[in-house]
Amino acid sequence: MKIYSDFNLQPYNTFGIDVPAKTVAVCENESDITEFLSTYTKDILVLGGGSNILFVRPVDEPVLLMQYKGIQVVFETHKEVIVEVNAGESWHSFVSYCVQNNWGGLENLSLIPGTVGAAPMQNIGAYGVEVKDSIISVTAIEKVTLQKRVFTHQECAFGYRESIFKTSLRNQFVVLSVRFVLQKNAKVNTSYGAIASELSAQNIINPSLADVAAAVIRIRQSKLPNPSEIGNAGSFFKNPIVGGLQAADLIKTFPTISMYAQPNNQQKVPAAWLIEQCGWKGYRQGDAGVHEKHALVLVNYGQASGQQIFDISTRIINSVYEKFGIQLEREVNIY
Ligand code: FAD
Ligand code: NAP
Repeated sequence: MKIYSDFNLQPYNTFGIDVPAKTVAVCENESDITEFLSTYTKDILVLGGGSNILFVRPVDEPVLLMQYKGIQVVFETHKEVIVEVNAGESWHSFVSYCVQNNWGGLENLSLIPGTVGAAPMQNIGAYGVEVKDSIISVTAIEKVTLQKRVFTHQECAFGYRESIFKTSLRNQFVVLSVRFVLQKNAKVNTSYGAIASELSAQNIINPSLADVAAAVIRIRQSKLPNPSEIGNAGSFFKNPIVGGLQAADLIKTFPTISMYAQPNNQQKVPAAWLIEQCGWKGYRQGDAGVHEKHALVLVNYGQASGQQIFDISTRIINSVYEKFGIQLEREVNIY
C-alpha cells in the first residue's frame, strides 16, 4: 500500500476542486484494503474516480484511493455469462470489454465516468437502463469489523439512484467487487428517445451492442461537458418524483412541463427543466456556474471552490421550491 501525506486531490475529482487531503493510501488489492482499514479505524473516505463528489473542505479523514482492478469470468452457459469485477476497475472500460465480447446489458451505460465499485452505490442509470438490472451481488467489507459480506441483489435494496449503501448502511462498507450477469444473445434497448434517432441518422436498422454503445457515446459527447475540459460531476440533482395529485396541479399551472410515469401513480419530473425555468441555465458567478447546454450540470470553469458550487446549488434548490413547490435533492456526495 502506497501512502502519501498532504496530497492534492485536484486530479482525483472531476469537479477539479483544489483540496488537500492529510493522508491518501493507494489500495491495489484486497490486502491493501484490509491493512488500510485496520490502520485507520476512525472515519475514512473511499474515493473511486471522484466523479460524484463535491469537496467543500480540506479532507482530514484518511482517503482510501480505490485501485483494486481485475475482471474474472466465474460461470458461463450458452445464454449468459457471470463476471466478477473488482471495485477499482474503470466503469467505462468494463462496459467496453462487455461490448467487445458481445455480452449485453450494460451498453446503454457507456461513458459514465468512475469505478465499478461505485456503480451500485447510487445504482447508476442512463438511457433507460439501471446497473441493478445486471447485478447479481455485491461483495463488501465492513469498515469497523473487517467482516466480508456478500449482499444479494435483493439485499442491496436498489432504487432510483439509491441503494442500501447510500441509505441505512451509508459509510459502513467498502465495496470490494461486483458480480454481473450479462446476456450472450441480448436484445438491444433503443426505446429511450435519443438512441433511436441517433441510430436512424446513421442508417442503422438492426443495431448491434457496439452500435448502441457508439450511439450513446455520441449523444453524451454532444450534450455533456467533458470533465477534463470543464469540471463537473454530471447531474448535480436527482430528478424529483412527485405524487399524482401534485403532478396534476403542476400540469394545470405549467402546461408545458414534461413528466414520466412511475409506479404507484407517481411522476418523474426532469430537474433540468425546473432549473431552466428558474433562469439558471448558463448562470455564472466567478468560476462556478450552471452549464450553458445542460441546466442539471453545475460546473467549475477553473478556480471555483467547492463551497461556491455548493452555494449555487442551495440557491437553485430554494428557487425551484419557491416556483414549483418541489424540493430538489442533491445526487452528488458532499464532503
Ligand atoms: P466517487 O465519486 O469516487 O464516489 C462516489 C461515492 O461513492 C462516494 O460517497 C464514495 O465514498 C463512494 N464510493 C466510491 N467507491 C466506493 C467503494 N468501492 N466502496 C464504498 N464506497 C465507495 N451517474 C449516473 O448514474 N448516470 C450517468 O449517466 C452519469 N453520467 C455522468 C456524467 C459525467 C460527465 C460525470 C462527471 C458523472 C456522471 N455520473 C453519472 C455520476 C458518476 O459518474 C457515477 O455516480 C459514478 O458511479 C461515480 O463513480 P466514482 O468511482 O467516480 O465514485
Ligand atoms: P434527456 O435524455 O434529455 O432526458 C431528460 C430527462 O427526462 C432525464 O432526466 C430522463 O430521466 C427523463 N427521460 C427522458 N426520456 C425518458 C423516457 N423515455 N423514460 C423515462 N424518463 C425519460 O436526459 P440527459 O440529461 O441528456 O441524460 C440522458 C441520460 O443520461 C439520462 O438517463 C440521465 O439520467 C443520464 N445522465 C445521468 C447523469 C448523472 O450524473 N446522473 C449525467 C448525465 C446523464 P432519467 O434521468 O431518469 O433517465
